[in-house]
Amino acid sequence: MTATPPVQPPAPSSTAQSEALFERAKRVTPGGVNSPVRAFRSVGGVPRFMASAEGAYLTDADGNAYIDHIGSWGPMILGHNHPAIRDAIVAAAAHGTSFGAPGWREVDLAELVCQITGVQKVRFVNSGTEATMSALRLARGFTGRKYTLKFRGNYHGHADALLVEAGSGLMTNAAELGAAAPSSAGVPDEYARLTLVAEYNDASALDALMAERGHEIAAVIFEPVVGNAGVLLPSAEFLAALDRVKGNGALLIADEVMTGFRLSASGATGRLGLTPDLSCWGKIIGGGLPVGAYGGRAEIMDYVSPEGPVYQAGTLSGNPLAMSAGLATLQALQADPGLYDRLDTYTARLAEGLQQAADSVGVTVWINHIGSMLTVFFQAGPVSNYTEAARSDTAAFAVWFQGLLKRGVYWAPSQYESIFISAAHGETELKVTLQAARAAFAEVVQAAK
Ligand SMILES: *Cc1c(COP(=O)(O)O)cnc(C)c1O
Repeated sequence: MTATPPVQPPAPSSTAQSEALFERAKRVTPGGVNSPVRAFRSVGGVPRFMASAEGAYLTDADGNAYIDHIGSWGPMILGHNHPAIRDAIVAAAAHGTSFGAPGWREVDLAELVCQITGVQKVRFVNSGTEATMSALRLARGFTGRKYTLKFRGNYHGHADALLVEAGSGLMTNAAELGAAAPSSAGVPDEYARLTLVAEYNDASALDALMAERGHEIAAVIFEPVVGNAGVLLPSAEFLAALDRVKGNGALLIADEVMTGFRLSASGATGRLGLTPDLSCWGKIIGGGLPVGAYGGRAEIMDYVSPEGPVYQAGTLSGNPLAMSAGLATLQALQADPGLYDRLDTYTARLAEGLQQAADSVGVTVWINHIGSMLTVFFQAGPVSNYTEAARSDTAAFAVWFQGLLKRGVYWAPSQYESIFISAAHGETELKVTLQAARAAFAEVVQAAK
């Protein structure tokens, strides 16, 4: 790292600049943000407007430093402003920022993705939303079927067909919208009716639905490890039921936008031993620039235009700056095969320390974690699906979140999100985070009195 991050982030003092920026932003942008969870609606207070990021740290517009536990919601697995990624982007920019024609970087990145993940062909798009939307269209085109099946609380981006009982920001805002089931205005019932929903981790419900409707279902799309209802881990029985989906002629689509290249080189499915028909990526695959991708066997992928009849295009798809950031990220991950074990160890120690800190002051929490993903649920648990996650004490979470924030620890501003650990998190960050967590848990006890 070029700049040396502060050893101990100072407790944030003024938030005057963030407040002023938020006021200006609210006048010109809905809610003052370009993605809903950033607005801090479920935890209250002023969202911090960030000015720079380095390693494990974010610095806001007032100059306050924070230990970052979000990593841009997943992409920054190597830490912020990694020199290899920055240099690759700068080098690419020197040759022009967009060609509207194919270039060598997208070939290099496609070859690398195929080599690492085992898919035969991949198509690059510009976001995770585009990846899942396109994979779903491909599955419908390939199978000639209409219906899709997803799981309650899984989030697959904001395409119409997938904004049905979706998690994450929707879950956070559900109470506020007064909606019984989290969804979105503007999605016609006719579209939503083509999307069937089952409870995550319920193998017999999945088997029953497939037995009854399997012949109509083009695709079953799922988060192999859920991040968007907080972290949920799939049971062995559920993974086996997902594998059986393929016997019905429906395509199994693994949404690895969050877990791909994070839970192992071959994502969550590689780590868990499940082979989907199609996989979707985003986040890490772009190294912090806007990239998504979907891929699978050649016989399926060749249904995509111009080879096949399923149309999908993108003016900036395969953009040279974005491809260079993705290439540098995947190459750095390949060059450090021990990284995944180090991330696992750090996150397991963080989970253990958080549990002890909560226990020491008598706050009841249930922690789910795997690899570098973790959620502290404010409830007794266990938490294995959306319905169980939704029993959490979000008011207690909000108190805890504010306690962390004022001590310079930036946590995901919603109960129903994962945090993301990076290669830049070390002993100092662990120690400071656990100290802040303990003090913040004590404030949760105070607030309940
Ligand atoms: C973030 C995410 C998406 C959407 O990706 P965007 O790049 O935000 O459009 C889709 N699926 C999962 C599992 C995600 O975590």
